[in-house]
Amino acid sequence: MVYVITAACLDVTDRSCVDECPVDCVYEGRRKLYIHPEECIDCGACARVCPVDAIVWERDLDGDGHAHLGDAHAFFYRPLSGRPKPIGAPGGAGMLGPVGVDTDLVTAARPAVGDPATNRSTDPAAPAPEAQAQAVPPLA
Ligand code: SF4
Ligand code: SF4
Repeated sequence: MVYVITAACLDVTDRSCVDECPVDCVYEGRRKLYIHPEECIDCGACARVCPVDAIVWERDLDGDGHAHLGDAHAFFYRPLSGRPKPIGAPGGAGMLGPVGVDTDLVTAARPAVGDPATNRSTDPAAPAPEAQAQAVPPLA
């Protein structure tokens, strides 16, 4: 079981979770952060400080959250755009620094407009974050 950063983090990225993590396993993309599924020790400290409740324990994930669990694996174990190889398991986000790139799922997500706490757009044509997340292909 691991903790997962879900869609509510999109475009918030205040890094409160980074400061709280005792094993430095929260990595920074461009519009969202990602918890390393193998480096996380399941302490829950990050979830308690997230201002938008974006961090969810794996067992409590809903459908959108499960998509972000798969997306976390994609962030670390598939080559990101412009990168020749996956990030893998660097053993600490501080050593790697901000990655500056997101997964395809997060890159394609519409900017939050209206309610930053839920990332739900006020644009009636905008798909809900759940609908965007469902576009994530299954893990190989
Ligand atoms: S504390 Fe929450 S909103 Fe802030 S960067 Fe971490 S997951 Fe994102
Ligand atoms: S649950 Fe603990 S170890 Fe895992 S990302 Fe959060 S603070 Fe770090």
